[in-house]
Amino acid sequence: MDCLFCKIVNREIPADIVYEDERVLAFNDINPQAPTHILIVPKAHIATLNDIEERDLALVGRLPYVAARLAEERGFAEDGYRVVMNCNDQGGQTVYHIHMHLMGGRRFTWPAG
Ligand code: 5GP
Repeated sequence: MDCLFCKIVNREIPADIVYEDERVLAFNDINPQAPTHILIVPKAHIATLNDIEERDLALVGRLPYVAARLAEERGFAEDGYRVVMNCNDQGGQTVYHIHMHLMGGRRFTWPAG
């Protein structure tokens, strides 16, 4: 399958991996938008949020769980951080394998651009 994040999961292309378990991989974003900018992805390929099925709920629930653990580890859990999941073109999705952006280490504004 021609999916960038599947290739990172399968170690076909390199990434700066910061967390791994049986079902989830996390790595630094190549174009960081904050002092910490990590992408947390399920190892299984799910293209968009619209493709999540009931059987995926435990897997997808790991993404915010891992985000919070990584935020804690990096020391900005208390101060706060931003998690983002973009869906499809208007939502700003560019890689079609679901991922949670974890951004921390600076103040974020709302509404998002
Ligand atoms: P999206 O726009 O789909 O929500 O987010 C895709 C993210 O993937 C972007 O923040 C982009 O910088 C990141 N990205 C794109 N290509 C690569 C890559 O080859 N390696 C890594 N580590 N991140 C990538």
